[in-house]
Amino acid sequence: MPINYSISILKNKKTLQKKILKWFDSHKRDLPWRRTKDPYAIWISEFMLQQTQVEQVIPYYHRFLKRFPDVFSLANASLDNVMKVWEGMGYYRRAKYLYNAAKIIVSEYKGIVPNDYEALRQLPGFGNYTTGSVLSIAYNQPYPAVDGNVIRVAARLLKITKVIDTTIIKKIITPFIFDLIPDGKASDFNQALMELGALVCRPAKPDCRQCCWKHACLAFHEMNDPSVLPKRKKKIRGEIRHIAVAVVVKNRKILIARRPDNVILGNLWEFPGGKQKKEESIEDACLREVREETGITIRITNPIMSFKHHYSHYSIVLHFFYGRYLGGRLKNRKTTKLRWVPMQELTRFAFPKANQRVISRIFEDYGVSD
Ligand code: SF4
Repeated sequence: MPINYSISILKNKKTLQKKILKWFDSHKRDLPWRRTKDPYAIWISEFMLQQTQVEQVIPYYHRFLKRFPDVFSLANASLDNVMKVWEGMGYYRRAKYLYNAAKIIVSEYKGIVPNDYEALRQLPGFGNYTTGSVLSIAYNQPYPAVDGNVIRVAARLLKITKVIDTTIIKKIITPFIFDLIPDGKASDFNQALMELGALVCRPAKPDCRQCCWKHACLAFHEMNDPSVLPKRKKKIRGEIRHIAVAVVVKNRKILIARRPDNVILGNLWEFPGGKQKKEESIEDACLREVREETGITIRITNPIMSFKHHYSHYSIVLHFFYGRYLGGRLKNRKTTKLRWVPMQELTRFAFPKANQRVISRIFEDYGVSD
């Protein structure tokens, strides 16, 4: 069983530590957050790197730190500004967590990112991974930072053939990594492990021949194809929802709505619309949703575009239409804020990524320069 394997592998602990640190020294990528020990900057990078590729994060990281160079500037900003700087990176809840945590760090910790596990873990958005990564990378404290890369390396090194679930992560992988952290080298070791997963022990084609841990890796020695690990639960293909969305135009102004705080993509702006009901045409759904959501009536003039978007358990197809305002007064509901904004000002508001294409199309159709 893996737990026994891990004990035998841990007998080679010193060699494993030495090899991976040496490899990291000569192979690590020169990433902007590796040039600093500022806990604030490291915290920002770690939040950004969750669910997002390194290459995509780099420009956002620079932009974010330019706009909010320290925790005070972030805490004193408006949520709208923070969302705007984050716009396009997805998983917007992370931006809100950063903002809320910054406020707490300023009010309760004099602007210093706590270096204590319990204090950090209680801040918004800090899970086991983020807490471990910030404490180890910024403060060199010996906490594991178990992300997808680390899980993959560990599952192969230990040849864990069971489906990886939270119990295996908690009971086997995390303690194993915790035992492996070399004294006084937590920062480099955790980064090295993530880097090994990203560059060598890749999901599809692990480069085992070049791997500094091949001497100890059970998947490499005992399996034909280590890339079959880690085993994951099969994703269930969810339903497809059709969403009708109206770009309502009135005197070159466009109607936008702010999403409530407690929903997916919360606090971002969007065009009004909603889910198509059974046996309802998509155009009828658009008219009904606008009426229910805003209190006004519109006439659909023409379709703009449709596209699909995938979430973990379901997919949506967004159907965008131009709508002309006919009558009625806007009714701001408690949970949604509505605004007419001049077309050329649309880019001042933070929209979900999917809407960017629509905004570009509006600019094109109405001759607005970006
Ligand atoms: S030997 Fe191959 S499978 Fe094992 S840790 Fe290295 S790259 Fe991954």
